[in-house]
Amino acid sequence: MKDYVKWLGHAAFELMLDGKRILIDPWIRGNPKAAVKLEDIEDVDIILVTHDHGDHLGDSIEIAEKFDAKLISVYEIAVYASNQGVRNAIGMNVGGDIEVDGLKIVMTPSLHSSERGCPVGFIIVGSKNTVYHAGDTGFFSDIKYYAEVYPIDVALVPIGGVYTMNPVMAARFVALFKPRIAVPMHYGTFDVIEKDPKEFKDQVERKEPTIRVIILGIGDKLEL
Ligand SMILES: [Zn+2]
Repeated sequence: MKDYVKWLGHAAFELMLDGKRILIDPWIRGNPKAAVKLEDIEDVDIILVTHDHGDHLGDSIEIAEKFDAKLISVYEIAVYASNQGVRNAIGMNVGGDIEVDGLKIVMTPSLHSSERGCPVGFIIVGSKNTVYHAGDTGFFSDIKYYAEVYPIDVALVPIGGVYTMNPVMAARFVALFKPRIAVPMHYGTFDVIEKDPKEFKDQVERKEPTIRVIILGIGDKLEL
């Protein structure tokens, strides 16, 4: 199966990398912009949770239990998931990396808040493509050093402002590490984070024209 990235709405994505189906921050139930219904989610191998706010932890625990998927998150959220009955909760911490199902998962910092542990992002390294999900974050620059070690093909970055970077800062952010493709997320779900993704695209093209910005519609699948 070809690698792809599919936007499920808000910060939720479905990735296919090396034949493994990965969900990131699968907030489906209660997500006003969800592209799928919970019962339509197909067999999942890995679930990555960036932090435990409701719009990110979402339905992770229920989906992990249904498919016996591995739920990977910061240590304290993994302990919580395990206590909720998830059999394959894997805890790690910022800067750490693990091998799961033939993929390398690297936990990156993010500047945000959370109830348990701390908020994070993930770099997922497959044999052909490397995808970075920034989580919810304000601007920070250490990501460029991570990307030197793990060059990023697709970066999923929040642009909604208020709780995360806005389009201008998000453009500066991706210009630091120059992914092949940048995809905006975490905007438009609620009025308070209504932003124009074209502003992000314009800013990136002005600052770093080598980066291709792809504005996905909710439910769109980007084949890699
Ligand atoms: Zn959020």
